[in-house]
Amino acid sequence: MFRLENFMGKRILTSSFLDGEAVRAFFTTRDLPLKAGERDDLIEEVENNKKLLCDGFNIPLSNLIIPIQTHSDNIKIVNGKRETVNGNEQNLSPLTSHFSPFENTDALVTNEKNVALALNFADCVPIIFFDPIKKVTAIAHAGWRGTVAKIAPKTVEKMIQNFSSKPNDIIALIGPAIGKCCFEVQDEVKTKLLDTVEESYHAQICDGNNLDLKLINKFQLLADGVEKIDLCEYCTFCQSELFFSYRRENGKTARHSAVVMARGQ
Ligand SMILES: [Zn+2]
Repeated sequence: MFRLENFMGKRILTSSFLDGEAVRAFFTTRDLPLKAGERDDLIEEVENNKKLLCDGFNIPLSNLIIPIQTHSDNIKIVNGKRETVNGNEQNLSPLTSHFSPFENTDALVTNEKNVALALNFADCVPIIFFDPIKKVTAIAHAGWRGTVAKIAPKTVEKMIQNFSSKPNDIIALIGPAIGKCCFEVQDEVKTKLLDTVEESYHAQICDGNNLDLKLINKFQLLADGVEKIDLCEYCTFCQSELFFSYRRENGKTARHSAVVMARGQ
């Protein structure tokens, strides 16, 4: 179950699925954008928000990792000293991806504690992952392109390959995103999205050419063996008071964010 809470005076959304776990994880609202996007007037506020977030998490700004998203299915491992690119380890020193960002990256995975992974959204589906056994955190950006590319199950595969996570241990939070009520697509996109899940789910996923991107990601994860999934009902297009919406604001919008960080020594 999702609920609105207060973080450093800003409204955020948390999930009861992570209550009691050694992790900080939430979806921000308009109160706490971490990317100004097309809103130049918010650039200063965004920089202040990054500092506020790190203060609240009690970490240095250099431990906040925000990649440059490109609607790809590129997933990178954050481990403090190096990153893995296409199976090859590259030095990344020190842990300053905030300043020299991961480029062309739409999902991050780490087993580092006190390293906050963040991604930015305005209608696309944010997904936070936590494996409470292996203490692995991950985050993914699934717009329709990322959903077609199955970035959510691919992120789970990275958790399994790199950190021996078991799918049924993993808790997944599917955050606020554009709902079926407001997400109408062309036939070509509809076909590509429907092709990613079993046909028996199609009736639940679509209503004419309106599609439920959050539910498609949930069904992709279920097919991958992830069962603990909390899905946020908020539509970012409908809930203008709470969220940014690329479609509603005709592309002139900032971004709310998803953040996850494992706590500990
Ligand atoms: Zn809506």
